[in-house]
Amino acid sequence: MKKIIFFSHNDNKIKEVKKLFEETEINILTLYDFPNISKPNETGSTFDENAKIKSIYGYKKIKLPCFADDSGICIGALGGSPGIKSKRFLKINNDHKKTFKTIINKTKELSNFYAYFQTSVSLTFDNQSIFFQGVVSGKISSEPRGKYGFHYDPIFIPEGSKKTFGEMTVEEKNKISHRARAIEKLKKFLIKSFN
Ligand code: IMP
Repeated sequence: MKKIIFFSHNDNKIKEVKKLFEETEINILTLYDFPNISKPNETGSTFDENAKIKSIYGYKKIKLPCFADDSGICIGALGGSPGIKSKRFLKINNDHKKTFKTIINKTKELSNFYAYFQTSVSLTFDNQSIFFQGVVSGKISSEPRGKYGFHYDPIFIPEGSKKTFGEMTVEEKNKISHRARAIEKLKKFLIKSFN
């Protein structure tokens, strides 16, 4: 079994990523396996930069190949925001329902429902970093729906679906999500490199 670090504490991301590696010979360790490791400040101005800050940090501290994802939602009616500030945007109100309401009202006011999720995965090993991207386009729903997933999942309907991400199980979300698209590329790369 080859070991690799997924530099994350986010239970939802970990569940999605581990599921994608389930039938491989690759053992995904996370920050839960290294409880004394601190986290770097995400000072980058792009998804790539923030993902790379995390994967380099993890690689240097743990000395195993390490990957990190940085992701977010970009909303047409908000001029492409919150993007890399997605987590902070939810914290402004400290109330997801209020944030969803602000977003939904703006999309209705402008009749612009377009949104997309983006993920950049950075993999660091042997002092080099490689990137894998994933994007899923879709729209903001007229109301939050669903009990699954996390953060923006209840208000995002991916293209070609009637359900929000919040109404999808991990398996369903993993068929189309931004994160799954990036991780599938990483998986192909790792399987080839480890053989
Ligand atoms: P980070 O990549 O951990 O810095 O966080 C990005 C933020 O983007 C998350 O905290 C969520 O608010 C949002 N986000 C990224 N991916 C998803 C997703 O798959 N579902 C819901 N929200 C997401």
